[in-house]
Order: sequence, then C-alpha cells, then structure tokens
Amino acid sequence: MSHCPAVQSEIPVIDLRLAGVAPEEAARMRDAARRLGCFRVSGHGVASALQADMRAAVRALFDLPDDAKRRNADVIHGSGYMAPSATNPLYEAFGLYDAASPADVDAFCSCLDAPPHAREAIRRYAEKTHEMIVDIAAKLASSLGLDCSFQDWPCQFRINRYNYTPDTVGKTGVQIHTDSGFLTVLQEDDCVGGLDVADPVTGEFSPVEPLYGTFLVNLGDVATAWSNGTLHNVRHRVRCVAGMPRISIAIFLLAPSDDMVRAPEAFVSAELPRRFRDFSYEDYRRLRQSTSEHAGEGLARLVA
Ligand code: MG
Repeated sequence: MSHCPAVQSEIPVIDLRLAGVAPEEAARMRDAARRLGCFRVSGHGVASALQADMRAAVRALFDLPDDAKRRNADVIHGSGYMAPSATNPLYEAFGLYDAASPADVDAFCSCLDAPPHAREAIRRYAEKTHEMIVDIAAKLASSLGLDCSFQDWPCQFRINRYNYTPDTVGKTGVQIHTDSGFLTVLQEDDCVGGLDVADPVTGEFSPVEPLYGTFLVNLGDVATAWSNGTLHNVRHRVRCVAGMPRISIAIFLLAPSDDMVRAPEAFVSAELPRRFRDFSYEDYRRLRQSTSEHAGEGLARLVA
C-alpha cells in the first residue's frame, strides 16, 4: 500500500477569521470542499484548554464500567453508545443527540453520572463547537454564493475510542466510509494518528496526521446532494498505527431541520440540472443501513 502523503499535503488550513472577509481565503475553502471534500480550520474560537478538558472528560467516560456506558441509549437510531462489534472490534463510541440542545447535553451527562468537572467541559465544548460548525457551514455556503443559516440544523456528537494495543497495529479501526450528514468537524487525538482519506481522483488512501490547534472538516453525502453534486463527500477510514488507545471527537451537522434534503435553486441551472430527488435524512440513513453501502454509493439510488 502506498503511503504517499499526496492528499495530506494538499489539505489547506483555512483561517475562519479570514474566510468571512477575505475572498481568497473563502475561495481556498470552496476549492478544497469541491475537490477534496476536506480541509482544516484554524481561528475557530475553541480554546486549546477547552479541547484538552473535553479529552480528559471523554477519557473518564470511557473508563466507566460497561453497564454504565450502556445507559447512553439511542435518541435517534445510531445516536447512543456503540460497544465493540464483530465489524469494528476495536471501536467503541458514545453518541449525543442533539448536541445543539443544552437540555440534551445535560441529559447525556446525567445518564452517565458525569462528575461536575466533566459535565462543565462537555457543556462548554458542545456550545463552542456547535457555534463553530454552524459558522463553518455558513462560510462555506457563502463561498458558494449562498446566504444560509445552519443554526437550527440537528447536530450529533460521536465520541470515539479505538482500543488499540501493540497487537492491533495495522488492523482496521473503522472501515472505509463517507459520513452520511452535511459536514463533520473532528477533534483528532493529540498523540495518535490513523485517519486515512481517499484521493478524489485515484481513490488511493493516504494518512492524515493530526495538526495541533486545528480541526479537520469532512463533507458527507448530504453535502453532495444539497449542493447538487458540487461538494465532494470524502471517503475515509481509520487504521491502527500505534499500540495505544486513540480518542477522537466528531461533531456532525446532519441535514436541514425539516429533514428534507433539496439543493437550493442557486445550485441548479440548464448546464447543471437537478441531480437528486428530494429525500429525508432519516430515509437516507436507513437506506445506507439496509444496503450496507456506507461509502456514498446510496446517492446513486437518489438520482432524479
Ligand atoms: Mg467518518
């Protein structure tokens, strides 16, 4: 397998403070979203101390006994605790839905009996990262000429631990997939890499190393449909590259608040006719589940 860092070297770091005011920064963001389906952000307003507090809170939650972890139940399908499984034996995750709702964040902490310090970190982190993801989405839309608010789009957290040991190096952490929603913002582990993203042309995977102080943004299937095929849903996977547990914290902006995904007219023209029929995120999620097509193949079934 090639480890050529082709994609890694191309992933730009977008300064969010500039992206709203400097056309060239907005253009870099747009070009990366269209071509690669991913970019990094700096200038995001989430303090590194808060990121560290959140990682500490998360590590404490994963150290809870199994029966306690299982109290994090589904709110929507797939939103609760996922124990290691036959498909992904090294992977476990907590889920929080809706991360934009202070009451839901509170309920998540209460069901796990999170201690006060962890609870405060999770509450503040959810608030700040929700602000960030809404800001990224609005600036991305603006770079495409659209004035949109993403404030009320539902938002999900998935808090991941990969239980790596020296014996699992080289094994799969999570299989090849695209994210199903609109966009994902990832806080990577501060020590352990392992994320690979696919080159949009060759399909070849190359590793993406964590970059201190930045978040990684990935576009998912809803972004491709919502933009009438303009934005690229990036394929990615996770492999074990070190014999120690890896933590990552993903926040997903899923789909419009009325659940219907439909490209705004601005993305549709005589040269670029409407590519996808309207669909609900929930139906699409079920389609991915029932067909076991997790890498964006399902979009072909939605062609108008
Ligand atoms: Mg993913």
